[in-house]
Amino acid sequence: MALIVQKYGGSSVADAESIKRVAKRVVDTRRAGHDVVVAVSAMGDTTDELLDLANEVAPIPAPRELDMLLSSGERISMALLAMAIHSMGFEARSFTGSQAGMITDSQHGAARIVDVTPVRLREALDEGAIVIVAGFQGFNRDTRDITTLGRGGSDTTAVALAAALGADVCEIYSDVDGIYTADPRVIPKAQKLDHVSTEEMLELAANGAKVLYIRAVEYARRHGVLIHSRSTFSSAEGTYVLGEGMKNPREAEGAVMEEPIVAGVATDFSHAKITVAGVPDVPGKAAEIFKIVARSGANVDMIVQNVSATGRTDISFTVPKADAAAALKSLAADQTEVGFQNLIHDDQIGKLSVVGAGMRTHSGVSATLFEALSAGGINIEMISTSEIRISVVLRGSDLAEAARTVHTAYGLDGDSEATVHAGTGR
Ligand code: ADP
Ligand code: ASP
Ligand code: MG
Repeated sequence: MALIVQKYGGSSVADAESIKRVAKRVVDTRRAGHDVVVAVSAMGDTTDELLDLANEVAPIPAPRELDMLLSSGERISMALLAMAIHSMGFEARSFTGSQAGMITDSQHGAARIVDVTPVRLREALDEGAIVIVAGFQGFNRDTRDITTLGRGGSDTTAVALAAALGADVCEIYSDVDGIYTADPRVIPKAQKLDHVSTEEMLELAANGAKVLYIRAVEYARRHGVLIHSRSTFSSAEGTYVLGEGMKNPREAEGAVMEEPIVAGVATDFSHAKITVAGVPDVPGKAAEIFKIVARSGANVDMIVQNVSATGRTDISFTVPKADAAAALKSLAADQTEVGFQNLIHDDQIGKLSVVGAGMRTHSGVSATLFEALSAGGINIEMISTSEIRISVVLRGSDLAEAARTVHTAYGLDGDSEATVHAGTGR
């Protein structure tokens, strides 16, 4: 008998029928003799709809109230799932994040889990109940307020529960069969991976692959939690995310695991580019600019500085689209002091990233990327690399086509089309 944590995303619990399907899966796991703890997301696009509603009543909703509002989505699905399980003759008990002991810091909208005290969950398990926990939410002890963990944060709830309860595996269910070599909505020829290393998954998640939330992967790495990403809509085995020293459960069954050089390609439309044009080419200007940007709260991703022939230079950088307005406002306020000539805002960019641990030991990986883009007539605007990743910024309108071309160039195309079972991709 094992302890299994299962997380069901929004598209898995989008309506009454889906909730009944999830209830059946949970009950099947219980029938197989396992203890089951479930983390659920809000139904379908509920969180987006609540956000839209908040923005209709207030241009900048108060963070505390926004968390009160958004956390209600998960409360609906947890209670409905518990009811559906009851009607199948099984005992299930739902808990909010705070009842489940999800203790976070006080940062509304992006709170971090600092402790998990699952006393009530243990009691319920000991009494033979199936435990359902509202994902994406926690509680801060100092402010005594409800917090949320950032978009996609139900994944983190599940991993944190798995760590705190010492679960054997954390199964993350969504509308695709696992982690693919690319987003199957963008590249239908993407193939499902048997496994991916934690470090590769962190790079993929950081660069647009929302199939797993980056903080959940970080948490799993820190606490040694085995993640199995799989689909609610099929019984197919999915993809294991393996931390250092973790054994692939399928290897034990005799499967031979080959390690590709490139694990996958990620696409990201969520960033905007800001160019600070005509910056005096003297020491200290970059420091001034990025101090101003940091003060605005914007998170800088890529940076390039042009060579200067005239004593002035242009500095371009990318930030999440949501942070761009604040960064521009702060820079504009200090224009005279910094001495730059003007600001250019471009939110029509896309980022394409190629990720693979094999890059450390193989040469020519970046040449393949640049050749493929050049053959496709696609212009590169920025480049950045890490040890196991190469990213380029392109026109947003070129991104999907570029990703398909690059996916083919690395030999990642599969023979058949990947299945996306549900969801709107929102
Ligand atoms: P959930 O609502 O269940 O949390 P998400 O929508 O957050 O699910 O994540 C699943 C989606 O992630 C898929 O529908 C797919 O479009 C997207 N995705 C992006 N990159 C990948 C990838 N490499 N492999 C699989 N899915 C991916
Ligand atoms: N419902 C939240 C969101 O849409 C959390 C999650 O789904 O993981 O971001
Ligand atoms: Mg998600």
